[in-house]
Amino acid sequence: MYYGFDVGGTKIEFGAFNQQLERIATERVATPTDNYELLVDTIADLIRKYDAQFGCEGKVGLGLPGMEDADDATVLTVNVPAAKGKPLRADLEAKIGRSVKIENDANCFALSEAWDDELKDAPSVMGLILGTGFGGGLIYEGQVFSGRNHVAGELGHMRLPIDAWFHLGDNAPLLGCGCGKQGCIDNYLSGRGFELIYEHYFGEHRAAIDIIKAQAEGEAKAVEHVERFMELLAICFANIFTGNDPHVVVLGGGLSNFDMIYDEMPKRIPKYLLSVAKCPKIVKAKHGDSGGVRGAAFLNIK
Ligand SMILES: [Zn+2]
Repeated sequence: MYYGFDVGGTKIEFGAFNQQLERIATERVATPTDNYELLVDTIADLIRKYDAQFGCEGKVGLGLPGMEDADDATVLTVNVPAAKGKPLRADLEAKIGRSVKIENDANCFALSEAWDDELKDAPSVMGLILGTGFGGGLIYEGQVFSGRNHVAGELGHMRLPIDAWFHLGDNAPLLGCGCGKQGCIDNYLSGRGFELIYEHYFGEHRAAIDIIKAQAEGEAKAVEHVERFMELLAICFANIFTGNDPHVVVLGGGLSNFDMIYDEMPKRIPKYLLSVAKCPKIVKAKHGDSGGVRGAAFLNIK
C-alpha cells in the first residue's frame, strides 16, 4: 500500500493507493497553521488509522510546497508555516517507525503523470507547470531527480534565453522575481506572466482567460499577444529541452488548458533545438488536482 500526503497551506490531502496504483481511500483535513506538534500528529494519526483499516504498514510519501534543506533535512517552505525549519521527515519517521519520503509538490506532479499508464514506459518525463508560477519536475526511470540541493526542476528561475530577449524586442519587459533576480522565466511563462506581458505591451491589465477568448475571436491585440507568447514559450521550452532532452513533456496548471499550445509547440520549437534533436511529445496532464497526492504516494515505488 502506498500512502500519499499533499501538504498545502490550508489543507492536507491523503490518498491510499494499492499495488495496481489505484486510489482506494481519500481524506482531507485542515493543515495546522502554526502548531508543529499538531502537524506531525495529524499526519501520524492518518497513517495509523489507514494501517488499521487495511491491515498493513503503508509506505509514506509527502509532497509540499517547498523542499528539504540538502544538508540538515529541515523543511524550507513559506506556505506551510508550521513545518518551516523543522525536521519533519525525521520526526515523522520516529513517530511511525518507518521511513518517509518528502518531495517538492511540482516533482510530485511530474511523478504522478510519469506513472500514468500511457507514460510509465518512457525513460524520462518532464512535468512543466504553467500555473500561477512556472516550475517543473524531472523523472528518470520512474524516479524523481531532485539534484544536490533539491532544486532540479526549478526551471522558473532560469533567466530568459538571449533569443527570447531579442524576440521581445527593444521594448522587452525586464521583470523582477520573488527570488530576488531579474528576468526569471517564471514571470514570463506562468499564467501571471501571460497577463504581465499583455499589460506591458498594451498598458492594461486583462485576465488570461479573456485574452484567450478574444484571440479566438480574432481581436488584433489578443492575436498579437498570443503570437508573441507562443514564440516566447517555444524559445524557452527549446532551451530547457536542450539541457534535459526529455522523452515526454507533460503540461499542467491553468494555462496548460490553452489547447493551441499543443499545436504550436511542435511547429515552433525545432528551429531552436540542436539540429540532431527532435521535439519531444508534449501532452496535457491527466491527473490534475490529484497529482500532488498521487506523486507523493508514488515516491515509494521501486
Ligand atoms: Zn526567480
